[in-house]
Amino acid sequence: MRPSILNPLFADITALPGVGPKLATLIGRAAGSRVVDLIFTAPISLVDRSYRPTLAEAENGRLATVKIVVDRHDPPPKGRKLPYKVICSDSTGWATLVFFHARADYLLKALPEGQVRIVSGKIEEYKGAKQMTHPDYILDPENEGAMPLYEPVYPLTAGLTANVMRRATAEALKRAPTLVEWLDSAHRRQEKWQSWNEALADLHAPAGANDLSLHSSARCRLAYDELLANQLALLLIRRARGKARGLAIKGDGAMRRKALLALPFKLTSAQKGALREVSEDMGSADRMVRLIQGDVGSGKTIVAFLAMLAAVEAGRQAALMAPTEILARQHLESLAPLAKAAGARLEILTGRDKRAARDDKLARLANGAIDILIGTHAIFQESIAFKALAFVVIDEQHRFGVHQRMSLTQKGPRPDLLVMTATPIPRTLALTAYGDMDVSQITEKPPGRKPVDTRAVPLDRLDDVVQGLRRTVAKGEQAYWVCPLVEESELVELTAAEDRFEHLKSEFGDRVGIVHGRMKADEKDAVMERFHNGEISVLIATTVIEVGVNAPNATIMIIEHAERFGLAQLHQLRGRVGRGDKPSSCILLYRPPLGETATARLKILRDTEDGFLIAEEDLRLRGAGDVLGAAQSGFPKFRIADVTAHGDLLAAARDDAKMMVEKDPNLSTDRGEALRTLLYLFSRDDAAKLLAAG
Ligand code: ADP
Ligand code: MG
Repeated sequence: MRPSILNPLFADITALPGVGPKLATLIGRAAGSRVVDLIFTAPISLVDRSYRPTLAEAENGRLATVKIVVDRHDPPPKGRKLPYKVICSDSTGWATLVFFHARADYLLKALPEGQVRIVSGKIEEYKGAKQMTHPDYILDPENEGAMPLYEPVYPLTAGLTANVMRRATAEALKRAPTLVEWLDSAHRRQEKWQSWNEALADLHAPAGANDLSLHSSARCRLAYDELLANQLALLLIRRARGKARGLAIKGDGAMRRKALLALPFKLTSAQKGALREVSEDMGSADRMVRLIQGDVGSGKTIVAFLAMLAAVEAGRQAALMAPTEILARQHLESLAPLAKAAGARLEILTGRDKRAARDDKLARLANGAIDILIGTHAIFQESIAFKALAFVVIDEQHRFGVHQRMSLTQKGPRPDLLVMTATPIPRTLALTAYGDMDVSQITEKPPGRKPVDTRAVPLDRLDDVVQGLRRTVAKGEQAYWVCPLVEESELVELTAAEDRFEHLKSEFGDRVGIVHGRMKADEKDAVMERFHNGEISVLIATTVIEVGVNAPNATIMIIEHAERFGLAQLHQLRGRVGRGDKPSSCILLYRPPLGETATARLKILRDTEDGFLIAEEDLRLRGAGDVLGAAQSGFPKFRIADVTAHGDLLAAARDDAKMMVEKDPNLSTDRGEALRTLLYLFSRDDAAKLLAAG
């Protein structure tokens, strides 16, 4: 249970004075709907009233606070729509205060002639004279303190003003309870960090550009808190999972040797390295939870397969889960000959199996007549019982978050788990997303791959592209045509794809197919199947092809509106071609003019095919939140921390969390107790719940 001291922070923002349902919707859009969302939304700029020039010095266009004497009022003649003016001066010059739709009685009271006043607002020059239109503040010098010198400005949304947001945030801050320090005191001293409450106060009271920086002391302290909560949660989850001990799986190597002999190629040293790490994990009694990261085409499947054979050698069963039916079938196709050579019994189970066939397979799984099962997520249904499942491989699961990984292996026996992803992730990010796993990387591609000729082509040369496509199809080769990703609207995206379908159909007739996200899984699979066996030459798709279908005969990848895709996504898509021995190309169609960032992105893609390098650049250009483009990518979204700027803090938080989990795994010391609160503060209830009651 969340400690009750945090309850005020997890209340709905409508609990704040002045925030009704309408305003709550707007604030919800800009920051979030709970009080805690406001306190963790940092200001993005500030209003600075500390510039105190004389009238002569006051610079055009700058926000200034000036001390003046009111000389005289100059109201507009009756019936004229002119502004009301008040002329004032100091010892260096004069200026005009300008008011539209003014109420004379109010102005006479606020600015009595002959009196000294402090006014704050934007200085403008108009026809050679200085003026200030509608000062933000008009004060008697005795009340100067009533004017804040600095005011934070928060992210806004249409209909939400800076003042309203500022007031709501100030109210939210009042609800921040005083919390027991969770940072190590020596560490905090060394960093000269303020307490949590002080840091919050400072974050929301910037008094200059330095205070808005990602490197301000307050920002760093709070970012560290957030990263620490993230790392602690991941390590606790990992520990809870590891506690259920797996068995030590040690095969005699006989099947693996036979499979290797049947392979038409030699493993790369990167593949061997990954295989060694996986085998070591399997051979230990601790439960394995490992991720293999490797670019598209780097040869992850064979590594996973050899590891599965190790389990079979040890008298156990293994399962390989693919994200789609068609990928499961492709795995079956490519692995069946190797399984045969090795003497392992391979089977496939998907949602498409008819009743009788399914029952038969289930029976053979239960009595151990199947060694390796390939399938979709259907293989993890409750009704499926293995005789001795010891090893599970999940392919292409970059859409899986920690939660899914957790739930997947929480029920039933606890097999060793190997996750494979083709999305290379920058080191820093990998720690935040996959910190609950060990990671192996395959950084090298099999020899002999031809580079994909990558070009950026403006949309107005579409006809040339179609010409080229005609030549490709005439040669009996195939092409992918990926249609623009429209994040706001699936429908617009669909229309664009269908329009392109009609267009290309007029060129290529029946040899064009289309797949998109709105189709049912089996419809999609049917089209993919026809592409795979060559009935279709040009496959139009929204990004559903991203997840690794194999068509060695495909030599052209055309991506429409490439500027709208993330770099990593483009790289993934490009990885669909260049798998056979023919030269291949990737055409990035864009709508000119390209912005600076888009240009830089397309250039990186042309310059390299190294997915890890591309991922680092993607992170640099887009910022951490965006790297995979999609919210469902399983990546944590940080609100205070920025992993590009706070990489060192992340490393320190990792070490800190590791040390805590080793020393105080149940978080029951004083610091441990405080850290529990931290977990809840950052909504890591999932991890906190793994702890025994404190
Ligand atoms: P991915 O990592 O994208 O899943 P795959 O495992 O599908 O890649 O491998 C891509 C292709 O490369 C397959 O056709 C596979 O047979 C081949 N391959 C894998 N390893 C090697 C290797 N060491 N040498 C040559 N070809 C290889
Ligand atoms: Mg693969």
